[in-house]
Amino acid sequence: MMGQPILVLKQGTQREQGEPALILNIDAGSAIADAVRTTLGPKGMDKMLVDGMGDTIITNDGVTILKELDVEHPAAKMVIEAAKTQDDECGDGTTSTVILTGELLQEAKPLIKENIHPTVIVEGYQLALKKALEVLRGCAPSIAHGMQNEGVRDTLLSVAMTSMTGKSTEENKHDLAELVVDVILAIAKGPSGQEDMVDLEDVAVVKLKGKAVGATNRINGLVIKKDKASKGMRADLSDGLVNIGLLSGSLRVKDHSVNIQQVEELEKLMDRDDQELLKLIDGVTEAGINVLFVQKDISDEAAGMLEENGIIGFRRVTEEEMDMLSRATGATITSKAKDLKGKTGRCLYSEKKHEGALHVYLTAGDEQGTFPIQTILVRGATDHVVDEIERSIHDALSTVGVAYEEGLVNIGGGSSFMEIVLALEKYANEIEGRRSFAVKGFAKAMEAIPRTLAENAGLDKIDTILNLRKAHTEGHKYHGVNVVTGTVEDMRALEVVEPHKLVEMALVGAVETCTMILRIDDVIASKGMDLGQPGQPPQGPQQGPPPGMG
Ligand code: ADP
Ligand code: MG
Repeated sequence: MMGQPILVLKQGTQREQGEPALILNIDAGSAIADAVRTTLGPKGMDKMLVDGMGDTIITNDGVTILKELDVEHPAAKMVIEAAKTQDDECGDGTTSTVILTGELLQEAKPLIKENIHPTVIVEGYQLALKKALEVLRGCAPSIAHGMQNEGVRDTLLSVAMTSMTGKSTEENKHDLAELVVDVILAIAKGPSGQEDMVDLEDVAVVKLKGKAVGATNRINGLVIKKDKASKGMRADLSDGLVNIGLLSGSLRVKDHSVNIQQVEELEKLMDRDDQELLKLIDGVTEAGINVLFVQKDISDEAAGMLEENGIIGFRRVTEEEMDMLSRATGATITSKAKDLKGKTGRCLYSEKKHEGALHVYLTAGDEQGTFPIQTILVRGATDHVVDEIERSIHDALSTVGVAYEEGLVNIGGGSSFMEIVLALEKYANEIEGRRSFAVKGFAKAMEAIPRTLAENAGLDKIDTILNLRKAHTEGHKYHGVNVVTGTVEDMRALEVVEPHKLVEMALVGAVETCTMILRIDDVIASKGMDLGQPGQPPQGPQQGPPPGMG
């Protein structure tokens, strides 16, 4: 080269390289953990998030908080992505994922300052992760599949309750946990022991403001909010069971664009339209349909004719609703009215008004048993309450589903993490070279979960950790933090149970994110992008509670 600098970057581009870049990223990533730390565990506090429009969310849910934060720093964004992935996969464990990521990053900092190369730290972390997962698996009692198994039901109830502890569902968690488990067992498919699959798309959640949370209930069937195509429509519901038809096309005669010169021509055309419409309606009546759901439109004339024939019709039903209707009632979706015959489904039909809006109930008749679609009607006094209850129920559904599918659970309250800490401390001594420092750092990071649980419960974190260590050294591998009494005890007795996959994914997600961040030694940001200063908290919407309340 000629010794002349080659400019490849635009003027105004920001660039951070080497150790300063790394430290900046570490601090930005950890700042995200600081934003949610106080919400961890049953004694965690809620946060009030206010967006630019003044809309408020009150939540304890890590990922909900993080989604609302307006974060600029790319490393911080990576941590938020990790939380979102955790939420998508397991529906819970987001705060833990973020806290673990933050701790792993912070533990790497002194090592970097000691000139241990980031790739060595990453290697050490990978070794530690492998070991940690083994330990986690080793202290995961398995639950057998099968709906008849009472033991499974009890374990799933504990999983549901653990997931709902400390949230706005707390007061009603016993009833809600029963409800969630019933729903999951109802939609779980496959022969017991094999391929038990839980698809949360089989659960409809309808939010209804106006009653106490305790009035939240499960419907063995599908409830959808929908207006009839014509207000006067009534069906003969004498024996309760009705035939359901599902039409993906329209129930109307196609519009013509013809040039009409004479009155006779117009009359002929109208006659033809009437005939065509009659044929469509015949298709519906011949199929013996009492209630018809149409994805596209029902013309007013067609609606009138349905009404005359004692048929209830609904128009503009969404594709998702059509799918659910089909799975719930066994009806096949058909594109043409004349093909409806033989494709109908059967169920009980009823209507109810909630908050002035018509809700249609399609439920199982006595002899039909459990419907493959279940609906939860979420109740609460205000929109805020209903929303937060819905989030909490959603999380519980996911966690119970995950636990049921995998058939493995871990005991919570920080117990599994303390097992991991002790095992890794031992393991670090077996490893040669600098990687052992990273394994030690990893072990220390794992302590953050029990420590934060204790801290958020207002307990002395040092005493708690010391007691916990002692218990685990003595072989009590299920001992965790009782956040109510402040003592260290067997979490099985307190029924603090989480899906194994949830904890596993949290660990894997945290290490992956941390590794990605540690491998970056050069941050190049285009003009106008603010990389921020180390330690600067993320700029987000106003956050509560005010400092000091956590
Ligand atoms: P996340 O978003 O990570 O799920 P949570 O606020 O739900 O965060 O807290 C989960 C942590 O709280 C887990 O470590 C779990 O074991 C612990 N935990 C839940 N219930 C209890 C309890 N009753 N006693 C002690 N720890 C609990
Ligand atoms: Mg949780």
